[in-house]
Amino acid sequence: MKICVHNIKCDIDNTGDRVIDLAAKKAGISKDSVLTWRLLKKSIDARDKTDIKFVYSALLEIPRGIRFKNHKDVKVYLEPTVSELQIGNVKLQDRPVIIGSGPCGLFASLLLARYGFCPILIEKGGSIEERTAKVKHYWDTDELDENCNVQFGEGGAGTFSDGKLTTGITDPWCDFVLKQFVQYGAPEEIMIDAKPHIGTDRLRETVVNIRNDIIRMGGTVLFNTQMQDVSFHNGSVQKITTNDAVIPCEVLVLALGHSARETFQMLLSKGVPMIQKPMSVGVRVEHHQSMINEARYGSFASKLPPADYKLSSKVNGRGVYSFCMCPGGVVVGAASEKNTIVTNGMSYYARDLKNANAALVVSVGPADYPSEHPLAGVEYQRMLEQAAFIAGSGKAPAQRIKDFFEGKPTCRFGSVIPSYTQGVTPGSMEDCLPEYI
Ligand SMILES: Cc1cc2nc3c(=O)[nH]c(=O)nc-3n(C[C@H](O)[C@H](O)[C@H](O)COP(=O)(O)OP(=O)(O)OC[C@H]3O[C@@H](n4cnc5c(N)ncnc54)[C@H](O)[C@@H]3O)c2cc1C
Repeated sequence: MKICVHNIKCDIDNTGDRVIDLAAKKAGISKDSVLTWRLLKKSIDARDKTDIKFVYSALLEIPRGIRFKNHKDVKVYLEPTVSELQIGNVKLQDRPVIIGSGPCGLFASLLLARYGFCPILIEKGGSIEERTAKVKHYWDTDELDENCNVQFGEGGAGTFSDGKLTTGITDPWCDFVLKQFVQYGAPEEIMIDAKPHIGTDRLRETVVNIRNDIIRMGGTVLFNTQMQDVSFHNGSVQKITTNDAVIPCEVLVLALGHSARETFQMLLSKGVPMIQKPMSVGVRVEHHQSMINEARYGSFASKLPPADYKLSSKVNGRGVYSFCMCPGGVVVGAASEKNTIVTNGMSYYARDLKNANAALVVSVGPADYPSEHPLAGVEYQRMLEQAAFIAGSGKAPAQRIKDFFEGKPTCRFGSVIPSYTQGVTPGSMEDCLPEYI
């Protein structure tokens, strides 16, 4: 029989032995009666900076019939199960086609390949190897490839990011996804960390391994191939046209992500229904990582991994929150169109750079967009991205937070030197962001 023991609090210097001692004690059983055990989750409780603890959940296998304590933190363990995938019984004429090799398209292709459907995965950007070189070239020279950049290419929009594997939802498929990552080379610790993170470096290796397995199982992966048209017959998909070929298909998965502006436009022109949606926009804020460590962990800072934070508030009816905080990371150029500025946070597995950064964003919605056109939100994004380019004279506009609060433009920076890959222009956020942001 397996039981779960939650909320096991240990001093941060304690080892695994202490965890099993405390788990057995909490469950009211003798440690000697535990047949096997492993950690299920690990997090840090830093609410009291004078007494920071690791908090564990552990899975204990004990002989059937052993009585354990009736306690809110001790439960019989139920293996998380994902619902069986329903396989159709009509033979497909053509191989399924998946557009986009971000997490959505990659996992769709992986599962289809495992079930023997030999999918065709189409990606307008390059492979990780080619893409990494193109992104570096962009960061070094400002020369952008509009089809292969931080947003487009193998691995999708999160590839040059922090590699955070967290989500706000609770679903047995989350565990499934993490297991696949481990199978394809991610460190095993992601299975127990409350905030799993693999960094852009480990993420790229994992994505390449997934791609190679899709190919090994009979799938085809086409890079530098953009779906440019889709044809329907009697309300069903009949074929797609890429820059290279016409591909017949009756099952088409659109895993396009948030930034496929040209493709949204093409689909709209074909009569695919679309509605406006709200989003959040804002800035990246940077601080010294040491300051965040000190603020979160006090005197324990040197013994713990780089700290993160999460803030949220509501101002004038709008959500304002931090997002994608990157401890020990760097702010990178992430534009997908020329003459625009888009920033993103990125970190490596080690998270050991001097600055921490986070997105600080404000919710916006259809009422803020320039028209009622379904793609007016895209137009709104583009206006902000172009305004930032102009305000920074081609570099990212940046302002000290102190100056922002005092309502004056920044002339020179203080001790925090912006890490942005292509350089910043000191100035005022007022020059590119609407007052409400
Ligand atoms: C800069 C950035 C950083 C992020 N960091 C994180 C993070 O650390 N952790 C996290 O959980 N989430 C992060 N996110 C969010 C996460 O990346 C997205 O939620 C996720 O990528 C969405 O996955 P997706 O597969 O739906 O789309 P995407 O990842 O956007 O992938 C879509 C793919 O489709 C391709 N494509 C589009 N149109 C076509 C076409 N016509 N033909 C062929 N190919 C096409 C694109 O090139 C792209 O590669 C980040 C997002 C961004 C933009």
